[in-house]
Amino acid sequence: MLHDVIVVGAGPVGSTLALALADGELDVVVLDTRAAGETLRGDRSLALSHGARLILERLGVWDVLAAMPGAATPITRIEISQAGGFGEMRLLAEEHGLPALGYVVRYRALQAALDAALARTGVAVRHGVTAATVGGTPAYAAVGIEGAHTQPVLARLAAVADGTGTLIAGIARHRHDYAQVALVAQVRCAAPHGGLAHERFTPDGPIALLPEGDHYGLVWTVSPDRARGLLALPDAAFVEELAQHFGTRAGAFTQVADRRAFPLALEFARNPAGARTIALGNAAQMLHPVAGQGFNVGLRDAWELADVILDTPRENLGDRAMLDRYLRGRRTDRIAGIAFTHALIGVFGNTAALLRWPRGLALTMVGAVPAAKRAFTRAMLFGLH
Ligand SMILES: Cc1cc2nc3c(=O)[nH]c(=O)nc-3n(C[C@H](O)[C@H](O)[C@H](O)COP(=O)(O)OP(=O)(O)OC[C@H]3O[C@@H](n4cnc5c(N)ncnc54)[C@H](O)[C@@H]3O)c2cc1C
Repeated sequence: MLHDVIVVGAGPVGSTLALALADGELDVVVLDTRAAGETLRGDRSLALSHGARLILERLGVWDVLAAMPGAATPITRIEISQAGGFGEMRLLAEEHGLPALGYVVRYRALQAALDAALARTGVAVRHGVTAATVGGTPAYAAVGIEGAHTQPVLARLAAVADGTGTLIAGIARHRHDYAQVALVAQVRCAAPHGGLAHERFTPDGPIALLPEGDHYGLVWTVSPDRARGLLALPDAAFVEELAQHFGTRAGAFTQVADRRAFPLALEFARNPAGARTIALGNAAQMLHPVAGQGFNVGLRDAWELADVILDTPRENLGDRAMLDRYLRGRRTDRIAGIAFTHALIGVFGNTAALLRWPRGLALTMVGAVPAAKRAFTRAMLFGLH
């Protein structure tokens, strides 16, 4: 049997694609290793842009998510600052006539809302099924399934959103290892966060504090050695160490919970398409979390791929012309997301004392020059185009 589209991976990006295709007349099948109702990864805070909210609204997912207690917290202000430097930038939602600049969303809650929405559609979702290989011929894509005696699943187009992209034969991936890890945790402060997010660049690396329910989600970028030390500290000593690096901008830190560390790398496929196959989301580009761009770029991959699929006659789905059209449309946003995030680490994450001045200047410039500030805010709100 030849399906129209097979979506490999029903994480946030694959589910978004499947949902956006659900109202069409296409035969779509979705595979995920996860058992129904399970999320594989640990929970984490995702920074969702205003544009991402609009996509989730159109798919009927936003209202469900927003109704879950503590699942989506509005960011009404962002303060970007630098330890030892003199630049500071403030972004305010009201300056842009918006209720919020973005939202902090729990990965698990988002996944649960997407799973529920997908279950209400006619799309066939096969849980507990793992793709072992993804290959293509000029006529169709073939997805090999893990386990004995299983036939490959055939489709005109395979859209791979497995979070790694390593399944697709022949797609070259570039990797830049930052030799850093993101230490994530939930942090409580004496004062309420009031919707304020902080991004602070320190000699060790950037620290982000994202308002989330009644606490902050912490993303602290440090060396692997330092992360091991920080993970081993008792709670009170960790909170003190954080206060020393972050300062008092968020008030006094009182508690920490759920400390975990993830290695950080930039990984992307320059050309994420193979014969009848396309990678999207983290499978196409995995970005440093400092700019909160990763998931937002992935969501736009899914939304725009659905748009191109729905606009293509069935017999042309997955052919070279269709894939090229999608790639052309995504090129600027993908490259800008990758370059913007990477440059931010380069500009703000460098420890050389000599660079302190230009780093402060860069911040001051962005804060002081209205056009640059508008461009930066636009990038945070909607992504770069
Ligand atoms: C520490 C950390 C912090 C982050 N913070 C942010 C942030 O603040 N803002 C932001 O926008 N992004 C952030 N990200 C990135 C964000 O997590 C990703 O952008 C997002 O998870 C990508 O979604 P995805 O659907 O592409 O992949 P995933 O979330 O990885 O989902 C992949 C899905 O595919 C399934 N799967 C995997 N392999 C197979 C297989 N072989 N067969 C079938 N199914 C399979 C899995 O079960 C899973 O359901 C962060 C990442 C990290 C590591």
